Amino acid sequence: MRKITWIEINLDNVAHNLNAIRERVGKVKKILAVVKADAYGHNAVVVSKVLVKNGVDMLGVATPDEAIILRKNNIRVPILVLNPILPEHIEDVVKYSLEITVSNLNIAKELSKNRKKNYHIGIHVDIDTGMGGTGVHPDNALTLIKELLLIDSLVIKGIFTHFSSSDEKDKLFTQTQNKIFKSILKQLEDQGIYVPLTHAANSAAILDMPETYFNMVRPGLILYGIFPSSYVSRSVDLRPVMSFKTRIINLKHLNPGSSVGYGGTFKITKPSIIATIPVGYKNGFSRHLSNLGKVLINGQYAPIIGRVCMDRCFIDVTNLVNVNVGNIVVLYGKQGNKTISIESSAVLIRTIPYEIVCKIGKNATKIYIND
Ligand SMILES: *Cc1c(COP(=O)(O)O)cnc(C)c1O
Repeated sequence: MRKITWIEINLDNVAHNLNAIRERVGKVKKILAVVKADAYGHNAVVVSKVLVKNGVDMLGVATPDEAIILRKNNIRVPILVLNPILPEHIEDVVKYSLEITVSNLNIAKELSKNRKKNYHIGIHVDIDTGMGGTGVHPDNALTLIKELLLIDSLVIKGIFTHFSSSDEKDKLFTQTQNKIFKSILKQLEDQGIYVPLTHAANSAAILDMPETYFNMVRPGLILYGIFPSSYVSRSVDLRPVMSFKTRIINLKHLNPGSSVGYGGTFKITKPSIIATIPVGYKNGFSRHLSNLGKVLINGQYAPIIGRVCMDRCFIDVTNLVNVNVGNIVVLYGKQGNKTISIESSAVLIRTIPYEIVCKIGKNATKIYIND
């Protein structure tokens, strides 16, 4: 075993989570799996192939570039680009048959300029029911959709909204967003306008708000086996996909009076054994874990002491038995019967699990596990 620091991606658990979500929302609902940000750091190509094999209906990414990588790897299911695109991306959108998010007439106007090209782009209209930022204001939605229907090069494939607060304890705002969205759907129905796909539910809404399912749902984080916050119910049986591991590269005895790491923030008060692991903030291992986080060695918890450096940090292994250089250290994941979850670490360092997986997944050596 030559590798020193790596993340393990359990692909069976991706399949399991997708099936568990399908179970939750009902088999007739379509599923758009969100694989933006390199599948939340898990490797979008590898994860998407598993999702496609297990019958996912669509994939969602943030940018055209992310979608192109999937197309170049022979992934052929419909792909929706969730962020607004720039006019210069239209050529790629056509070339790779991507579906795009539209919330105004800008891109539409751009398309009519190139009328000679004779193509059709599938679009999903984004309704701003409270997220702000993007999306058409509900008051203008019907007018926009009618105008979009007049543009030959566009086909309206979907209409959607995005929830800003569905992972919070109080679901009132999300319920209001959902009501506004429904009122737009009603307007369309009254006008005899049919849009094939209607979708709103992100992970948290899938867990707690069946009234938001419509005919397609858009899970992201829960596909990776992680719950978005401590307020959402555990109503889907999820299995974590990512584990983060390294190995001890040094062991050392320190006597009282010594201190450890930059700034000397950890003072040694009794004879101690300190392990060094080659992981730091360059691996996305947050500096906020300094003197706060813990790791697993030989199935036992051990605290991170001193500050997390760029490419190493220090662990107090004084109270552990059988510790040797080369031992595997679990930063996130399971060892023996103990676990360090990404969710609990997010709470500890006051961030969200999304940020942790994106950061530790980036540039990491990945090992894929298939039983
Ligand atoms: C990222 C994203 C999702 C997925 O959100 P999760 O909380 O990870 O499930 C769904 N829809 C849109 C528009 C998104 O940008």
